Amino acid sequence: MRDYYEILGVSRTAEAAEIKRAYRKLAMKYHPDRNPDDQEAEAKFKEAAEAYEVLSDPEKRARYDRFGHAGVRGNGASSGAGFSDINDIFSAFGDIFGGGTIFDDVFGGARARARRRGQGRQGGDLRIKLPLTMEEIAEGTEKKIKVRKYVPCADCSGTGAEGGEAGYRTCPTCQGVGEIRQVTRSVFGQFVNVQTCPACQGEGHTITNPCRTCNGEGRVKGEETIPITVPPGVLEGHYLTLRGAGNAGLRGGPPGDLRVEIEEVPHEHFVRDGLDIYYDLYISFPDAALGTEVEVPTLKGRARLQIDPGVQSGKILRMRHRGLPELNGGRVGDQMVRVHVWTPRTLTREEEALLEKLRSSPSFQPNPGQEGEHRSFFSRVKDVFS
Ligand SMILES: [Zn+2]
Ligand SMILES: [Zn+2]
Repeated sequence: MRDYYEILGVSRTAEAAEIKRAYRKLAMKYHPDRNPDDQEAEAKFKEAAEAYEVLSDPEKRARYDRFGHAGVRGNGASSGAGFSDINDIFSAFGDIFGGGTIFDDVFGGARARARRRGQGRQGGDLRIKLPLTMEEIAEGTEKKIKVRKYVPCADCSGTGAEGGEAGYRTCPTCQGVGEIRQVTRSVFGQFVNVQTCPACQGEGHTITNPCRTCNGEGRVKGEETIPITVPPGVLEGHYLTLRGAGNAGLRGGPPGDLRVEIEEVPHEHFVRDGLDIYYDLYISFPDAALGTEVEVPTLKGRARLQIDPGVQSGKILRMRHRGLPELNGGRVGDQMVRVHVWTPRTLTREEEALLEKLRSSPSFQPNPGQEGEHRSFFSRVKDVFS
């Protein structure tokens, strides 16, 4: 664990502005968008974000100065340092995942721009669900999704005025400022009440000749195909926020965001339990007694699996690292294969006769004690190295 000041390359007495500048420089340099598939850059990017998260907060910084990493880790009262929390990881990825205070702060989000006076209103956010198969979650995927939304009007270049911005007229009510200030004096002192200009809704201008295509809105209903990069290891309910991919703003205002909610499509073979996946394997009674080799599906194609003679129903065989990866690298789960011995439902006369012969045979009498079948669920898991 490196020293946070060292990571950002600032001295222990650095002021807030200097820390912010240092972090912005590093974040730009190691941003995943600029360093695709570069794990080292990604690690540096996250390291810097973590250092900034602590050093930009006076309270956390003070704790860090006194107690080091221990002072800012595992403290329930604060979000703490270390990107163990999923939301922190998402925020570290900035505009891919969004929702991060760090990036809103440093780079200035769309929302901050929207508040600038004399500009069109911001478009609304959009939410969509993105169904993913287990295979896609395991590997990560690139998706292209078609989104119905407001797009800028081509005829007026999104301005809402016939002939573009030349058709704007400064709002006479607010003189183009977009807001109205009212000063009230009372015995308690002077109050300044600032409100959005009602005549222009804060845009600072009105339109003499509205564009007929969009009725002066600067945007029309349309659709856009948006590429989405999904990292491996996402979970149902996770959000990826795509900044600026939402509805176009009114009259040139900034666009809203697109929030993509991950949905897991149930798998035909597997049930997920955290990073592990479970598969139910049915084998015949002779195969269970004599042992066999079977083929089982995995998330990466079929694999062969050895079944030892005498396997019991309920036994769980573990196929290492055939499960799902943790978001952000690190651990990979296992595939658990639950063995079920299939009992025939109908028998021919000949089969019946064969089984009658075996019915009282000594090896066929249940004797669960000898192999410890009474042991707990977890100790029954057997490791399979395949
Ligand atoms: Zn138009
Ligand atoms: Zn106005």
